[in-house]
Amino acid sequence: MKHLDFDVIVVGGGHAGCEAAAAAARTGSRTALVTLRKDTIGVMSCNPAIGGLGKGHLVREIDALGGLMAHVADRSGIQFRLLNRRKGPAVRGPRAQSDRAIYKREMQAAIYGIDDLTVIEGEVAGLRQQDNRASGILLVDGSEIKASSVVITSGTFLNGIVHIGFDKSAGGRMGEIACNDLGRTLREMDLPLGRLKTGTPPRLDGRTIDWQRLEMQPGDDDPTLFSFLSTKPSVRQIACGITHTNEQTHEIIAKNLEKSAMYGGQIDGVGPRYCPSIEDKVVRFAEKTSHQVFLEPEGLNDHTVYPNGISTSLPTDVQEAYVASIAGLENCAILQPGYAIEYDYVDPRALSSTLELNALPGLFLAGQINGTTGYEEAAAQGLMAGLNASRSALKKEEVKLGRDQAYIGVMLDDLTTRGVTEPYRMFTSRAEYRLSLRADNADQRLTAVGRDLGLVDDARWAAHSTKMDALDRAKATLKNTTLSPKQARQHGLNVNDDGKKRDGMELLAFPDVKFADLAPAFDGLEGVLSEIAEQIECDALYQNYIDRQAQDIATLRRDEAWSIPADFDYDAIVGLSNELRSKLSTVRPETLGQAGRIDGVTPAALLLVLSGLKRDGRRAG
Ligand code: FAD
Repeated sequence: MKHLDFDVIVVGGGHAGCEAAAAAARTGSRTALVTLRKDTIGVMSCNPAIGGLGKGHLVREIDALGGLMAHVADRSGIQFRLLNRRKGPAVRGPRAQSDRAIYKREMQAAIYGIDDLTVIEGEVAGLRQQDNRASGILLVDGSEIKASSVVITSGTFLNGIVHIGFDKSAGGRMGEIACNDLGRTLREMDLPLGRLKTGTPPRLDGRTIDWQRLEMQPGDDDPTLFSFLSTKPSVRQIACGITHTNEQTHEIIAKNLEKSAMYGGQIDGVGPRYCPSIEDKVVRFAEKTSHQVFLEPEGLNDHTVYPNGISTSLPTDVQEAYVASIAGLENCAILQPGYAIEYDYVDPRALSSTLELNALPGLFLAGQINGTTGYEEAAAQGLMAGLNASRSALKKEEVKLGRDQAYIGVMLDDLTTRGVTEPYRMFTSRAEYRLSLRADNADQRLTAVGRDLGLVDDARWAAHSTKMDALDRAKATLKNTTLSPKQARQHGLNVNDDGKKRDGMELLAFPDVKFADLAPAFDGLEGVLSEIAEQIECDALYQNYIDRQAQDIATLRRDEAWSIPADFDYDAIVGLSNELRSKLSTVRPETLGQAGRIDGVTPAALLLVLSGLKRDGRRAG
């Protein structure tokens, strides 16, 4: 061990833990990553894929802030697809299927490559506390490690129970132990805990699939990568197979529903509505006679295939029967049965929006422990928790991202003010400012912020600065000249004949006008790189809307800026219903904006709170 004590200890080497440890170490904290097994750092517990709608935005933001996930996903990506390609850039979602082994290897390489980060193998059983603040951890072997801040990212391991039909066993993932001591520690701290569940499909032996009969889906011809620093895929690209469940499959599942752990009453926890098990689909969408199943190879040198769409907790013999009823899988061998897992989570309303526990300063929670689902949500939380744990240890001010600044800000605000009733997944529809929070402009929104915080290294900053210079130069050229509609049409540009002169950025806001069309009319655009041209097209397309959105944001900000003191007395507000008094006293929103997003808080109620704040003479700085 390099140090006897640390500034920050991160518990868990999953998706949240890796980003948390990297962010803490990069911002100057002596950091320890303490995890059950070094060889499972960066393991993908479920599907070997990163990104997708909403989630892809989070990965881009993590990258813009100097995080690891985008780089690792690009290095291990064996198929890249931009989802919603035909829709506007604001809702497109980059997604990559990863080679599971390469993902883990690249994440471990990234972690071991960070200075001042020490990796320790061990099971964390409890916490040290001093002066009502977290001050380190206790390991199961009785040893202690001190730190100024601790980040717990224990995923599905807290009192985890793995279910296959009626069989159940303790475990944080298939084949791994559950962490009941740490679970007990959190229970004894009287934290608001709940139970959630999730599931995974059986893994298939690709050598026994009849690929010839299946439709194949290749990746995009021009792959969209995650990292702003990546230029092309690193490894060979593959196609996935597509097959479908059928009436016979559904009949087998329906007949055996009572044997499913999720349906037979063995599991109390709530599951992810957006990632339903095949049992769920058969029951909830009974009118559908078929569901699509993507057959995703798990790696270039791996015969394992992940059948995306049929996660289950039915007994193994039923899984074998329904898999064999699917076209192309008639003779397919199952390498590992699907299973469900039930685990403890902490109600995230017990956390501030920096993910620090209100009841114990210095303790931060991130990832699935906060009731989220997915690698990307976990990683984004990890980055922010690691950053703030580091700043807390170094006695620096906490850092938050606004809802108008990043999807990460939207997620942390949603979690800590609204809590979760089911595993939380990111969607673009969760962001009220999604026209400006695009995946393509995450670097423009966040890289300078990350640089100021010490998250962004010199190489990324140099590349970003070069890009920004090129963007600024090309935009200045476009803004320098205006064309009347007549002049524009003389150059073949299809614009409204309204007599209004427009500069190049305004002309680009017309859907039919492309950057290349402007070159003949604007001197100085020759030699602009294609990626800069594409970026300017995106920026220009949304400019009008964003200007309007900026006014809305300013208005909302004016009210949101009212901060609510932690000891604010809601009982003293005349006219507020008892239900809202109790809700606001429990959630303790930090600002008026947060209060407004709590279920049931009406504008009228907000006005009452605002007048209470004014009366107290307490307003935001
Ligand atoms: P994890 O990636 O689980 O990492 C937790 C880490 O903490 C591990 O390294 C573990 O070793 C370590 N750890 C735990 N306790 C201790 C301790 N006491 N001491 C030391 N180390 C400890 N997501 C989806 O989006 N869709 C799905 O369909 C889906 N299905 C899933 C199915 C299964 C069976 C599982 C297990 C997960 C599934 N997920 C799914 C969730 C996804 O895997 C998680 O959201 C993501 O991995 C969470 O990241 P995390 O960092 O919070 O936790």
